[in-house]
Amino acid sequence: MKIAQVRYEGQVLAARVDGDTVFPVVAEGRRHMSDAVRDLIADGTAEETLSTDVAGVPLADVELLSPLAAPQKIICIGLNYADHIRETGLETPKVPLAFVKTAHCLTGPTATVRVPRGSTEQLDWEAELAVVIGRTARDVSVEDATSYVFGYTVANDVSARDAQFSDGQWFRGKNFDDFCPLGPWIVTASDVPDAQGLAISARVNGETVQDSSTKEMIFGVAETIAYLSRYMTLYPGDVIATGTPHGVGMGRDPQLWLRDGDVVEVEVEGIGLLRNPVHVTTD
Ligand code: ZN
Repeated sequence: MKIAQVRYEGQVLAARVDGDTVFPVVAEGRRHMSDAVRDLIADGTAEETLSTDVAGVPLADVELLSPLAAPQKIICIGLNYADHIRETGLETPKVPLAFVKTAHCLTGPTATVRVPRGSTEQLDWEAELAVVIGRTARDVSVEDATSYVFGYTVANDVSARDAQFSDGQWFRGKNFDDFCPLGPWIVTASDVPDAQGLAISARVNGETVQDSSTKEMIFGVAETIAYLSRYMTLYPGDVIATGTPHGVGMGRDPQLWLRDGDVVEVEVEGIGLLRNPVHVTTD
């Protein structure tokens, strides 16, 4: 099942997506809640609730939003593809290298990424497979880890490299407003038989810049969940962005930075496509 969060007739609603049709569901008592999808996942009722027989509306008539609005945490794994590590010249991590984006970064799968003028000269993209946690995970084994996955979605871990590398840690450079386009929906885990065998790619203005496979990850989804859960409890709706393959702007020769008017597409096979224009704001 594909589960989205949509704006339809002025309301933000959880919805099932089937082909070109969206089935928005207003769960009782949740009409105005800001993160209906996360709440449905936490309640264990997402698939049941969203299977409700309701009238469908054309996909073109809704605005797809980030499928999650307020996850407790968005954990990103850095340097998790061997080909990407080579292009950065950095050392291969011995364990997953985790950092955070906070929920204020989230934006929709077609939303404009708005960057304040003068805030960065090195705006970059990172195509990533994102995992959505389905139930509370604390110190789980590698063998059991994927049973804690609710589903998968697509993230663009937008990064301002100058800010990222001038501060001594990565928080500012990874956490500008709009730096986490997510979506276009969550595909439930039962519909993703092998998360480690998916094509992953990015395009800038239609030109392919990243083209790899999730099988190239150093630490796979199961290892990453098991590792993180030793130190911190993972909660339903938490997002883990699993790192990016080679081909980011920083690693190219010559380097390539996003500019006003560029359009970035990030795609993961069998999951979906993000298509975000970049706008450098003048105010
Ligand atoms: Zn990343």
